[in-house]
Order: sequence, then structure tokens, then C-alpha cells
Amino acid sequence: GAIVGQQPFGGGRHSAYLKGSKEREELLAALEKHGGKTEDIPIVIGSEEIRTDNIHFQVCPFDHQKKIAKFYYANEEVIKKAVKISQEVRQRWERVPLNEKCKIFLKAADLMATKYRMDLNAATMLGQAKTIIQAEIDAAAELIDFFRFNAFFAKELTKYQPLSPKPAETLNTMRYRGIEGFIAAITPFNFTAIAGNLPSAPALMGNVVLWKPSDTAILSNYIVFKAMREAGIPAGVINFIPADGPVFGNTITSCPDLAGINFTGSVATFQHLWKQVGENFSIYKNIPRMIGECGGKNYHLVHPSADPDTVAVATIRSAFEYCGQKCSACSRMYIAQSIWPQVKEKMLKILKDVKVGPPMDFEVFMSAVIDDRAFKRIKGYIDHAGTSTSLTVIAGGSCDNSTGYYVQPTVIETTDPLDRIMKEEIFGPVLTVYAFPDDKADEILQLIADSVPYGLTGSVFSQDEEYAKRATEELKMTAGNFYVNDKSTGSVVGQQPFGGGRISGTNDKAGGPHYILRWTSPQAVKETF
Ligand code: GLU
Repeated sequence: GAIVGQQPFGGGRHSAYLKGSKEREELLAALEKHGGKTEDIPIVIGSEEIRTDNIHFQVCPFDHQKKIAKFYYANEEVIKKAVKISQEVRQRWERVPLNEKCKIFLKAADLMATKYRMDLNAATMLGQAKTIIQAEIDAAAELIDFFRFNAFFAKELTKYQPLSPKPAETLNTMRYRGIEGFIAAITPFNFTAIAGNLPSAPALMGNVVLWKPSDTAILSNYIVFKAMREAGIPAGVINFIPADGPVFGNTITSCPDLAGINFTGSVATFQHLWKQVGENFSIYKNIPRMIGECGGKNYHLVHPSADPDTVAVATIRSAFEYCGQKCSACSRMYIAQSIWPQVKEKMLKILKDVKVGPPMDFEVFMSAVIDDRAFKRIKGYIDHAGTSTSLTVIAGGSCDNSTGYYVQPTVIETTDPLDRIMKEEIFGPVLTVYAFPDDKADEILQLIADSVPYGLTGSVFSQDEEYAKRATEELKMTAGNFYVNDKSTGSVVGQQPFGGGRISGTNDKAGGPHYILRWTSPQAVKETF
């Protein structure tokens, strides 16, 4: 894996984007193109573009007066129309051989890797406030990986046909059918890659999809949508439907054709959707598949034997890259008292030098948080630290939303490991640290395991292999993605399939070989002649 200590802290040091490079020139042109206008983005249902009078704008989080996209909310009638049209195209799409479907999605991946690479990077930087490094690993790398790996894993399925040694007169096969009805993909702002994966994986497996993108990621998401259409995904297979969350949720869950929800977002919203599906259970033609990737309260655990440099760099990257707005971001650290002073000194030194600002400045490490709601929520936690006697802000702590939604990378030390700041998801650049007595390294495992209801990601840093192994075992249920001597963020498609247990999600492992199976309703066929 990557040596965390060697990772850069400013986007401009990304090797592909050095001054004067072809990539940098192309990216600057794309930033100018998308930053210099307000793109008009329609609802797209089948081949029809729809504009309602419910108008919204996407702004740059680091400059909230700047509108980069104008879009329209679909109402109930428009959403129902999408259901109807998708059902008309479903049977035709279902009959397209899986191999053909793979070709189309691989072509979409190629388009996104070439023709649309800089548009996607620029839209993710401007609209979602990612630095170039964060945009590139998301909208260029992970997005394309999802498309290519899903197609690869889909083709693998054909390897196991026929299913048993063929007796003379019988043939046993599996047909990986799509599911009758439609899949609703409800996607988050924080990864263009996830926004692309949630509608495309079910579509690849023969389903039709109603895609509700996030309001704060409309521009990048629309580019993904356009690339898929251009690659040959027929009209109506994936429908692009910006909408008010509750209106979309109420409409799809009251529709008998709902066959599944592919969701990434908050625990509360997922639980609410599940409840609605439960209430309407008897109306559905298929039992809707519920797939959710929700929140986390991810941790770094540091043993006295850990390497202080590695811990300092990995923790800053995990807690503050993309403003801690990755579901996997570290927001609580438990560190042995003997090593904390050294790690603290290194962290504070790095933080003193990191640059916070607009992402078009390639030296910037961290930009603004996504919107005003996020800004207020995060500020609320920092204010709480300011008034609590057990919490001390040791770095950052200031917030300013006058031009953009800026929150400085903030480190808080706590003497109470059960303070609510150690238990609740913040989804922002706030890290809380609890330094535990060295002789409590075993007891701390229990505390980590029991103090939160989440189970998404976690890391242990230890040169003592014995302890690392014990922690890995004892913390088994606390993280769907677990790391030894590496940060808790940055799972790679195909290498560390992503997802968590407990209330963090249904843990279907996006980017893994089994993910696509959730989007099929296989038929076992025995043929005897
Ligand atoms: N897969 C990403 C990571 O490992 C996080 C995905 C998310 O934020 O939902 O950092």
C-alpha cells in the first residue's frame, strides 16, 4: 500500500498536475468553462428533458454567491411518469445480453477516463469543493474503477456455467435476471464515484433506475449521466431526477413497481425509507431490496509501539482530507499517553502549514464544507467543545461562512471518552482525541467497541504485532473496513470492497465481487431433453 508518511498535503504536488503539464492546462480550461457559467440541467426521463417551475441552484461551497448549475425539482407527477417510462423500456433492456451491457458500461468508463475526465474533475472541484487530488481519486479513478470492476465481476458470473458437471441429458444454468420494477438510486454529494456506482450497477445487471442525485453534486452527476447515455445506455434505463428528498421518497415507496433502493446517505434517512417500505409492504410486486451505506464514527487506535510520523500523517489525512466529509473519515482517536505528546507536536506542526482555501489554488489541502446546513452542524460541535470543561480545542476551531462555508481543521482533546463528541457523527473537519494510560491498552478495545452504534471503518497503529492482532480480533464488529497501520479512509475498488455493519449500512461491499449480485433475481434453469 501507499506509504502514508510520503503523501503530499497540497493538491498541486499531484505528479500529473505539475505546473506546465498538459493535465494542468486541460484542467484549468475545464475549471474556466464550468466556473464561468450557470449550466442549465434538466430532469431527464426517457429521452425527454423536463423543466418544472421548482427551480434550484448549485453554488460553489467556497464561494456561495457563485452559481454553477440551475436545476429543477421533479414533482410527484414527473416521478410517476419516470416509473411508467422505465417499465416500458425494462423488458427490452433485460433482453440485451449481459456481455453487451458490459461493453456499454466499459465504453462509459472510457469516455469518463478520456473525453470527460477534466469536466468531471472540474465539476467535482467547483461543486463539491474537492481539491484536485481528492477530485482525481474520486471522479477520475474510483468512478471509472467501479464501472470497470462491475463489468469484470459480471462477466465472471458466466464462468460458473453450467453449474454442475453436465449429466448426459440435463443442463443446469443460472440466468441472472434483473428485477421486475425499478430501482431507486439515491446518491450522496461526497463522492462522484458513489453517485455513478449506485445507478449504474443495477442497470448493468438488467434493471431500470430512477436516479435522484444530490442537490450539491448536480453538475458532476449530470456529466456522469451524459457519459452513460453517450456510451449507448438506452433512454429510460437510467433516468436523471433531481427532486426534493421527501417528495421523491414518498412517491417511490408508494409505488407497487419499487424493486429496490440503492442508497448512500444518513442513517436517519435510510431508516425512514425502510419504515415507509415496511408500511407499504403489501403493495409491492417484488420485495424491495434495501441497500444502504450510512454514517460512521470512525476511529484510529494508537498503541505505544506505533510509529509517530505514520500516525500523525495518517490521522490528519483521514480526519481532514475533503473536510472529513468521507463516511470513512477518522473522527475519534484513542492514543496511548506515552506517544501522544510526540504525535501531537507533529500534527500541530503539519496543521500550522496546511492551506485552507478555494480548490482552484492547487496548494490548498482543504476547502470549504458542502453547505450552510453542514457548516452550522459542525460549528455546533465546535461551540460545544468551547463550553465543555472536559474538552479543549488544541488546533483550529474557527469557522467563517462569509464567502464560503469554511471550518478550519479542528483538533479537540477530551478527558471524557464518552462525551457526545466522541459518539455522534459530525461529518466535518473535527477530530477528537482521548489519550489513555498505556496500561489500559486492552480495556480501551472494549470502550471503542461499545461506545457507538456504528461499524464503518477503523484503524489500529501498532508495531507490536501481537497487539495489532488482538485489536483486529476484538474490534471485529466495529468496522466493515479495518486497517492495520494505515488511515481509515481511501478504500480501493477491487482491493478493499467498502461497507460497514451495525447501523452504518447493509454492508453490501461496493467495489467487491458480490455487490452486483444484489441487483439480480437469478433463475436456476434445469433443461432436460
Ligand atoms: N470508500 C471511501 C473511503 O474509503 C468512503 C466512501 C464514503 O464516504 O461513503 O474513504
